[in-house]
Amino acid sequence: MAEDEEIPPPASFVEQATVTDDSVYGEFEENWPDCWGRAAATLDWFDPYESVLPADEPPFEWFAGGTLNACYNCLDRHVEAGAKNRVAIKWESHLGETRTYTYQDLYREVNEFAAALRAQGVEEDDVVTLYMPMIPELPIAMLACARIGAPHNVVFAGLSADALATRLESADSAFLVTCDGYYRRGSAIFLKSKADDARLKAAHDLEEMVVVEHLGETAHLGAGQHTYDELVDAHAGAEVDPVERTADDVLFLIHTSGTTGEPKRVEHVTGGYLAHVAWTSQAVLDLKPEDTYLCTANIGWISGHSYVVYGPLALGTTTVMYEGTPNYPEKDRIWDLIEENAVDVFYTAPTAIRSFMKWDTSLPASRDLSSLRLLGTVGEPINPRAWKWYYEHIGNENCPIVDTWWQTETGGMMITTLPGVKNMKPGTAGPPLPGVGARVVDGRGEEVPANEAGYLVLTRPWPGMPLALRHGQRWGEEAAKLDVGGWHYFTGDGAKVDEDGYVTVLGRVDDVINVSGHRLGTMEIESAIVDVEGVVEAAVVSVDDADTGGIHAYVTLETGVSGSDDLRERIGSHVRERIGPIATPDAVVFTPDLPKTRSGKIMRRFLENITNGEEFGDTSALQNPEIVGELESIVRDS
Ligand code: ATP
Ligand code: MG
Repeated sequence: MAEDEEIPPPASFVEQATVTDDSVYGEFEENWPDCWGRAAATLDWFDPYESVLPADEPPFEWFAGGTLNACYNCLDRHVEAGAKNRVAIKWESHLGETRTYTYQDLYREVNEFAAALRAQGVEEDDVVTLYMPMIPELPIAMLACARIGAPHNVVFAGLSADALATRLESADSAFLVTCDGYYRRGSAIFLKSKADDARLKAAHDLEEMVVVEHLGETAHLGAGQHTYDELVDAHAGAEVDPVERTADDVLFLIHTSGTTGEPKRVEHVTGGYLAHVAWTSQAVLDLKPEDTYLCTANIGWISGHSYVVYGPLALGTTTVMYEGTPNYPEKDRIWDLIEENAVDVFYTAPTAIRSFMKWDTSLPASRDLSSLRLLGTVGEPINPRAWKWYYEHIGNENCPIVDTWWQTETGGMMITTLPGVKNMKPGTAGPPLPGVGARVVDGRGEEVPANEAGYLVLTRPWPGMPLALRHGQRWGEEAAKLDVGGWHYFTGDGAKVDEDGYVTVLGRVDDVINVSGHRLGTMEIESAIVDVEGVVEAAVVSVDDADTGGIHAYVTLETGVSGSDDLRERIGSHVRERIGPIATPDAVVFTPDLPKTRSGKIMRRFLENITNGEEFGDTSALQNPEIVGELESIVRDS
């Protein structure tokens, strides 16, 4: 496969794909914004909306006048349509135990828990915080909240008691659902005690706590604390009418990953959000009700909300969830899950793909992955070498790959190829989806020429937009400075667009490296480095020296590859060739690991601190805080 090659989608895929006609782009253009009625049509509405988008300036009231219930759309309508015995959730525990919920099973348990929450005093619009690992009770609790119109606020279970306390306060949430604990890589983590800690730390009252007994060790229960089973048993057989929500009513709150700074709170609404994720699940992931689908995202992040829970369940698909990590008990866990469940569609992150490459390429080869029809990635740019590995070793050159660019703030996918329509270009996300307005502009807000770097802005509202943007608030400091003319949202990412309108994301604007007045995107340099044989991951940062400036690269290697000067030389020359001499790293540091957020993204600011001999701040947001000290001594001793 040559560099910059365009790869058409496999014919066998196109034959069966839901969206195969290129005219969909034109139709969205001609008929904007009413074209988004297609997304709304994937849902059942109680009252139909009066207008898709009444005005083209804030407030943006998507599907104004429409009412619906997200839980009804994910459960009741499938049960009513005769799919009650289809599997909704297939779950595999850390120890390999499986649980299967049909749509009928899920309907029953969600109703019982919804009744229980009500009995605990949860009313419509009360925020319920869910601090839970990847167990079935998490989506059950989310859907139960949605059923009674109580926005949920999921906090990733790996976050600390402090982080939970902050998020309880920020959401003004008096209700918490958690569990006694769970296993991670063989050791027990006691979540309930972290939750108790947060309750003491939060400067506000937590009234009720529900505890799922997942480890089976009866947790100590204080006042206002109940076990999940006790509540569900007390409401056995209960049915709760789904509350009629307006399209604009909040479905949930969530925080961004906090890769570049403090996590930001985002609120998503019922109508636009659900329509956006259901439509993109259908058009981009090509999900069909008869499919079995695996997304490796944790439900604690937006990707898990949109594409483990709401998108696939709204379409009546079977969604596979697993507890634990992809390399426990063995490094072929994911391939095992795909084979065992005959998974049709697989959606994961580039960081996971790079780990799979690092572990052992023969592992996927020893499994039958022929059930796969489509592959997807999200979270970071995927460099062409990893893309190619994914395409060949996992997809057997038979599955299109969708590289989906989106954010917590966008709710759902925004920039990616429609897999049955567009050619793929490895390393490039693709054109904006039909109906999405995206442009790359310079500091004055003017569109930059093709293939030149600039700021990625979204120039049209979209159904999955969050509440604050609907109301016309502007986000981000840079946003204020860009004058794009008309409404826009600045994404915080740098990007370039090619002649065919394909967008390549170059990095976060906060991470831009300035070398002698040239602004370089971190992701572009890193992508060039990881294309070098033997390299797994790379992070580059700028040297804070007014005279010299410069770039330092931190690099991890495949098992068995050693960090030699020869490899440093190869990295340098590859970057020179791909981007230019200006981007060549002045130093290459080999390291066993890179500092990462809990959602698996590289946190460059600690590397900057180390490079520049600065104090580094609080490392508690990292999944591997120990690496910071280790790296500091590697750099000091080198
Ligand atoms: P914070 O906003 O708190 O710093 P975050 O941006 O990491 O955290 P998310 O909303 O989870 O939080 O991540 C969205 C970001 O992830 C995007 O803005 C982009 O930088 C990156 N991203 C996601 N998907 C892709 C992709 N397919 N290609 C390139 N970058 C991507
Ligand atoms: Mg962000």
